[in-house]
Amino acid sequence: MFSRRSAPFFRVAGFVASMLATTSAGLAAQQEAKGSGTVVLRAARVIDGTGAAPILNGVVVVTDDRIVAVGAESSVKIPAGARRVDLGDATLLPGFIDAHVHLIGRELDDPGQDAEATRDAPGLSAIIGVANARKTLMAGFTTVRNVGAPNFDDVSLRRAIEGGYVPGPRMRTAAHSIGITGGHCDENGYKPGLFDGDFKTGIADGPEQVRAAVRYQAKYGADVIKTCATGGVLSEGDAVGVPQYTYEELKAMVDEATKLERKVAAHAHGAEGIKIATRAGVASIEHGSFLDDEAAKLMAEHHTFLVPTYSAGEAVEKAVKSGVLKGLRAEKGLAAAAAMRHAGEYARKYNVQIALGTDAGVGAHGTNGHEFTLMVQWGGLSPMQSIVAGTSSAAKLLGWDDRLGTLAAGKFADVVAVPGDPLKDITVLERASFVMKNGVVYKAPDGVKTNVAQ
Ligand SMILES: [Zn+2]
Repeated sequence: MFSRRSAPFFRVAGFVASMLATTSAGLAAQQEAKGSGTVVLRAARVIDGTGAAPILNGVVVVTDDRIVAVGAESSVKIPAGARRVDLGDATLLPGFIDAHVHLIGRELDDPGQDAEATRDAPGLSAIIGVANARKTLMAGFTTVRNVGAPNFDDVSLRRAIEGGYVPGPRMRTAAHSIGITGGHCDENGYKPGLFDGDFKTGIADGPEQVRAAVRYQAKYGADVIKTCATGGVLSEGDAVGVPQYTYEELKAMVDEATKLERKVAAHAHGAEGIKIATRAGVASIEHGSFLDDEAAKLMAEHHTFLVPTYSAGEAVEKAVKSGVLKGLRAEKGLAAAAAMRHAGEYARKYNVQIALGTDAGVGAHGTNGHEFTLMVQWGGLSPMQSIVAGTSSAAKLLGWDDRLGTLAAGKFADVVAVPGDPLKDITVLERASFVMKNGVVYKAPDGVKTNVAQ
């Protein structure tokens, strides 16, 4: 919602580009594991992520790190010598994608979270990020967009995952979120001088500073730009709904990011800020709590995605109840969470594209799958629409729909299984039983061999 922490990319195959980035960082010798040989995954149902009806008694055939065939078991030719993994009464789906996480640092209800910026030694946030990345992958989320982090820790985490040092999801990373002095993306509530930010840490006022901030984050590894277009819940001293950047500032940001082949993700709760950011050309509105008719219509016209982050709304309500959040921040959280329950009505009315995002870090890492449930319960989506939001739609928002987001021949072998049928019980998406990324099995039910120690 919510938080102040804050990804890359070259159009020429982000995959190749990220390998180049890795090489330039000196990690050339080490690469993330890839599957080898042919594996046939079989389950009672296959949902391919496009929104098409499930394939009954389906198979996904994987060779090395790629999907080579998908279909009914009776119609797919199985290559000789293929290894067979029968998952029984389960549903195979594309690896899930969370378009809004904060892997770096402590979670909201961690007693040390509030003083993290002043009491934790450098490095702790990143080390906690390693644990969070693993939990996220094991929940079936094979790809995330990390929208805000201090110290370029997110860029380092991405490189450590790409280098095979630690397990985790594929990442788009924003580095520092870009926002106004004293705004939601700033560190507020400290004595003057202690947290004076600048364009390097994402604090930028006026179009020129905004351009400098975008260039600086991109220079050091951001492959998406995150901004705070309005106030937020967890920041001190700002109203949750009010605009924080002018149209001119956001337009400069989008122009600069576009030149550098990056998209802009805009945190925005209030309708006015949503409209300003949408007109300026951002790719997505994060949270969108106080969406109204005009804002939703504008988003549909501009093909702007909504990333609702219902999990953050629910986590904030719980944090108020348990006393973790108090005062103005509690008041703001309750107002935003209540409004969020109506945002889906506007989005559905105007066919706004929706991508799944949790704001994990506000809620617990590894519970990302609960967002599918909330998209149905709070957002009014059908179970199938919810699945599309967390697979093919999110891949489109991340600019990776050419290689991820659906089960189709040629795509990366990122495949998840859940027990039973998610169209009958959406909550089964909260309990991934099988996780494959790049053709490597990271999690499997008892009796199924994994390539990686758990
Ligand atoms: Zn966030």
